[in-house]
Amino acid sequence: MPPTRPADSPARHTGPSSDQEQEPRRYLMNKGKRVIIIGAGPTGLVAALGLARLGAQVTIIDREDDILRWPRAMVYLPSTLKVLDEIGLLEKAKSVAAWGYEYNLRFPLTGNIGRLNYHIVEDLTPYAYNLHFGQDVLAEMILEEFLKLPGAEMRWKTSFDTIEQAADCVQVSVHTPNGPRTLEADWVIGADGARSSVRKDLGVEFEGFTWDDTFMATNVLYDFDKYGYAPSTMVADPDHWCVIAKIDDQQQWRIAYGEDSNLSEAARLARIKERFKHFLPDPDAPIEVLAANSYRVHQRSAATYRVGRVFLAGDAAHATNPIGGMGFTSGVQDASTLIKCLGGVITGDLAEDALDWYAYERRRCFLQIANPTAIEMKRRTQERDTAKRMEDEQNMFALMADRDATRQAMMSIFNLSGRAYREDWQTTLLVDDQSGKAPTVGAHGGIKIKA
Ligand SMILES: Cc1cc2nc3c(=O)[nH]c(=O)nc-3n(C[C@H](O)[C@H](O)[C@H](O)COP(=O)(O)OP(=O)(O)OC[C@H]3O[C@@H](n4cnc5c(N)ncnc54)[C@H](O)[C@@H]3O)c2cc1C
Repeated sequence: MPPTRPADSPARHTGPSSDQEQEPRRYLMNKGKRVIIIGAGPTGLVAALGLARLGAQVTIIDREDDILRWPRAMVYLPSTLKVLDEIGLLEKAKSVAAWGYEYNLRFPLTGNIGRLNYHIVEDLTPYAYNLHFGQDVLAEMILEEFLKLPGAEMRWKTSFDTIEQAADCVQVSVHTPNGPRTLEADWVIGADGARSSVRKDLGVEFEGFTWDDTFMATNVLYDFDKYGYAPSTMVADPDHWCVIAKIDDQQQWRIAYGEDSNLSEAARLARIKERFKHFLPDPDAPIEVLAANSYRVHQRSAATYRVGRVFLAGDAAHATNPIGGMGFTSGVQDASTLIKCLGGVITGDLAEDALDWYAYERRRCFLQIANPTAIEMKRRTQERDTAKRMEDEQNMFALMADRDATRQAMMSIFNLSGRAYREDWQTTLLVDDQSGKAPTVGAHGGIKIKA
């Protein structure tokens, strides 16, 4: 089960000051640059570090008492590595992570294995690999750097309550262990996860749908290397599909698979080892389950990612099934775009119009790229129709035989970064986008990009 800290042990990552008495003076000195980030997940933390580095006075609040240790994302795709590089964390990440070059799609129907390797795009990008490490490790890394910066503050055990906006500032009401408080800022980023209270308080719809299936995420100690498993592996099977991915170089791996939504959590946990028999190359080899939890998956997007001085980012803005890693990866890109756009407004280099670009472009990237990609990855992994499974396999091998198509497919992850802001975007990029067919979330959805 996930490791937890005893309730009375102190949080390890706190800001230099949470003294309410100092607030008015501190805030006045930084008028125009004050940012409150709600949620110390990867999205909020990446944005916090980047904005603080640009001179913003950033306060992060989180309702927990320290970094969440549940098993969650742990594969850093090339577009994420580029952002880590931009915020000065790539070298540190490389030193703690396991490295991965190969992605495998296994087809139990025939026993064949589709293989894609990043070496094929080494001349196109310096980020031609994946790194593997838990998002909690990333959080530690970021907080260590963030808390060295002037004005940087991390307030744990502080829950968002409500927001009130005025023309030139935002009041955020929060609950703290010492009672309710009101914080003031110029800008607020709601990065408080898929059940975002910020999004709900703003009255923004979370459009889309929830899948019927339940996903089980387990962290295990098992020697998949010994059996030739690639660091990122998917097994295409209607009943026993799974995603197997490396978490570190000490034989810690993630096995994620589908579970019956009608079972209780206790029943799902009780039959983990029975389910593992279908996924493990040698079910008799020793295995230790370090952590496990199940969760429901969605394809949803907020109707807008900006309401006045408040932005939605990461899972608070969009939710997707995790097959293909589109959730975490998109959240990091949201944060990167906020660093550029909100950071540009704060430093005086960009007009406020850049904030509308953030909202537009990040929503477009989710609806046009992340969402359909994740739906297709899920379909391919779970496909029940034998003819379609055979076709998927043929398509995979046709791709592998075509060097140019493979290179294009592997570089396509950078599309998720979106386009750079330009001042004339409303009369150029937006017009071009609107002249095309409005994208939707697919068969189940109905989400459209609004004009
Ligand atoms: C079990 C599981 C496995 C996953 N596996 C993968 C994977 O393999 N690959 C992948 O790409 N993605 C995966 N994901 C998704 C990925 O973890 C998320 O996309 C990512 O964490 C989103 O980051 P975020 O910062 O936007 O939100 P979160 O990580 O959800 O962070 C939100 C933060 O906000 C805080 N918060 C919430 N409400 C409040 C409030 N009212 N007041 C103050 N603070 C608040 C929370 O405590 C939390 O720290 C997985 C998710 C789960 C649940």
